[in-house]
Amino acid sequence: MPENVVIIGSGPAGWSAAIYAARANLTPLLFEGTVKPEMIPLGQLAYTTEVENFAGFPAGNIRAFVESAVDKSRHWNLPPVPKGHERDGVPHYAVQGVELMELMKQQALNFGTRVIGDDVIDVDFSSRPLQVVTAANGIVSTQAVIVATGARANYLGLESEEKYKNKGVSACAVCDGALPMYRAQPLAVIGGGDSAVEEASYLANLQNAATIYLVHRRDKLRASQIMQERALNHPKIELVWNSGVEEVLGDGNRVTGLRLKSTVDGSLRELKVGGMFVAIGHTPNTSFLGGKLDMNEKGYLRWTLPFRTNTSVPGVFAAGDVADDYYRQAITSAGTGCMAALDAERYLAEMH
Ligand code: NDP
Repeated sequence: MPENVVIIGSGPAGWSAAIYAARANLTPLLFEGTVKPEMIPLGQLAYTTEVENFAGFPAGNIRAFVESAVDKSRHWNLPPVPKGHERDGVPHYAVQGVELMELMKQQALNFGTRVIGDDVIDVDFSSRPLQVVTAANGIVSTQAVIVATGARANYLGLESEEKYKNKGVSACAVCDGALPMYRAQPLAVIGGGDSAVEEASYLANLQNAATIYLVHRRDKLRASQIMQERALNHPKIELVWNSGVEEVLGDGNRVTGLRLKSTVDGSLRELKVGGMFVAIGHTPNTSFLGGKLDMNEKGYLRWTLPFRTNTSVPGVFAAGDVADDYYRQAITSAGTGCMAALDAERYLAEMH
């Protein structure tokens, strides 16, 4: 018997789709990826600290709630409670990315979602039932599919950048910024969007932080107003305008600086830093689809009906960042996950 619905991805879109599909008695099967950097278990929120803007989660004694809701067997995966955030002697902070994802996962499990830690590596949508090919669990037949595989961080594409990955080059300050190799070092964040500002602020707020250079190729940030103010007013963040990275410099073992090129007059200068964090946008995780669904020029899946999550193949729906290069928020992903589950439910009802 084919599955009713297979959900690919374990970020906010995947879990929200699973919650809705499970509550509709569709007993969804969700593939939680394993291969970094593409199929990150729990999605990009696994790389995030506090999430201040997910509605319904104001700062509070979050950990007590998380521990009461999430099965004890997964408490090991919860990040440490942020230090120095207390009110009346108890922790008081905004929900952290992993906590939020573990809560969503628990909610999906509570309603009967089946979860498999495996990667979908290919699909066959040319006949019915639809087929998804997994790395470790063979071929799974299903009547409907929800693609919720998200998007991953981009790099600059320099040879020297590749050479120093994990030796001072990273695309995730939140994951790596607190490592000893970066401690008390001047560091550079590349980019001018919300991610770049967020990464720079995170690094600048670490204990013993030195100067954090925010290197941007233009003379104006793309980030939202509130984030811009955060960067511009932070005493430890220094803006380096109109500059691109020409080369990552190092001693063979670790980064020692950057060669920057002015985007105005082409002049070169060296910036002494112990690390470079790249925050220049994302690429959707759609390569496993082999072009079998319509995509836009950047590789994001196309919704083929307005305000519906339908893709170019009937029975296949897309939710979250894999189909959104515009909003890319945890809450919008969760919303489209819900939509995809409702769309799948109606599709299945019409089939029978
Ligand atoms: P964005 O696409 O918004 O910004 C990417 C930045 O990188 C731009 O400033 C761009 O420059 C720069 N850039 C792109 N390619 C290169 C390159 N090759 N070399 C140098 N610089 C480059 O991506 P983000 O990841 O910052 O944000 C994505 C979405 O997620 C946005 O909608 C954002 O609002 C949202 N977000 C929200 C957050 C929050 O609200 N807390 C936190 C993080 C993200 P240029 O400006 O010149 O194009």
